Amino acid sequence: MTKQQLIDGTVKHHKEAIALSDYIYDHPELGNEEVKAQEALCEALEKAGFEIETGIAGLPTAFKATYWHRVSGDTGTMTTIGLLCEYDALEGFGHGCAHHLQGPVMVAVAKTLKQANLSKPFKLEVYGTPGEETTAGKIDMCKAGIFKELDIALMVHGSDKTCVDEKSLALTEIELKYYGVPAHSAIGPDKGRSALDAVLMTFNGVEYMREHMPADVRIHGIITDGGKALNIIPEFASCEFGLRAESRQVLDGIITRFKKIAKASCEMTETSCEMKHLHDFHNKIPSYLLNDIIMKNAAEMKCPNLSEPRKRTGSTDFANVMYDIPGSCLRIAFVDSGVTSHTKGFLEAGKSPAAHNAILMSAQTLVGTLYDLISDRELVEKIKREHQNQRKNQ
Ligand SMILES: [Zn+2]
Repeated sequence: MTKQQLIDGTVKHHKEAIALSDYIYDHPELGNEEVKAQEALCEALEKAGFEIETGIAGLPTAFKATYWHRVSGDTGTMTTIGLLCEYDALEGFGHGCAHHLQGPVMVAVAKTLKQANLSKPFKLEVYGTPGEETTAGKIDMCKAGIFKELDIALMVHGSDKTCVDEKSLALTEIELKYYGVPAHSAIGPDKGRSALDAVLMTFNGVEYMREHMPADVRIHGIITDGGKALNIIPEFASCEFGLRAESRQVLDGIITRFKKIAKASCEMTETSCEMKHLHDFHNKIPSYLLNDIIMKNAAEMKCPNLSEPRKRTGSTDFANVMYDIPGSCLRIAFVDSGVTSHTKGFLEAGKSPAAHNAILMSAQTLVGTLYDLISDRELVEKIKREHQNQRKNQ
């Protein structure tokens, strides 16, 4: 089978993918409650002969669908590719991030590859990854070692431009809870120790650290509890901080210094403190080679609004996957240039002809990419070596 024949085969699955996508769009589910989306996608893959496992990594709405393509007589290494999809909606805003498109694209890609009878062995793993917008399910899945067996991980995401990403910021979110001693603010303030003071000292300490941080570091905080009544010395106060940097190494150094500030604030105010990491997002390790292959295929498919890679983005749980193994997310244009995710424009275009077309364009681009990877093991090895070097040199 030629590459072109394989790509043409994707068309057969377009109608089903549109129906799946519209169904998920019409039944938006919040993170970790994506029961209908999980069921619909698993059903489509099970019918196509994939082996299904749900609830992986302790996440009830996660899943894995596996297909082994064995070729008798071929003892070469079996290239293992992960196709990751999200399907969570936004609180009160439906599929304003277009996650409904992802699973259906991956179903079309996986079914096309399975039916192709290629001459090289390969293994496909379709992963449903819940709660991207809230609890960042991929981080739990990484911790559980779910993606370890993969050579390469691929994703797709709706966008205003067709492109790929190079880097993203590492982010750690920390919750701080301070405990003081309550007292009447007028009658016995000497008896009290203010938890709010400790919070304020922490904010001040961070301001003094700012001058001595690398330029790419970002720190932002909010006070989540500053006391209950004006005439009581606050016994309890809390805050949350987000700390970001271009690399996990740099960020870990900043976190160590940040924790010293939090502890010193307790020392100064005679209070105590509990610290908890809410999320630890890594930075993306760029896979330039893989990005080039994807964009070459996207150009061949004449995907809309082809654009340069995004050099740096915010933070995402897919970065934790890309930290451990080479990966890339194809961003496929389905809205006008300048329309960003989490906006009305994005939401309203979810079932448009452009969205339906984006499903086919992105599926064909990924099918072409998979063909390139599966038919050339040395290329896969090169991508893996590049990833290791990039990770070392970041
Ligand atoms: Zn998104």
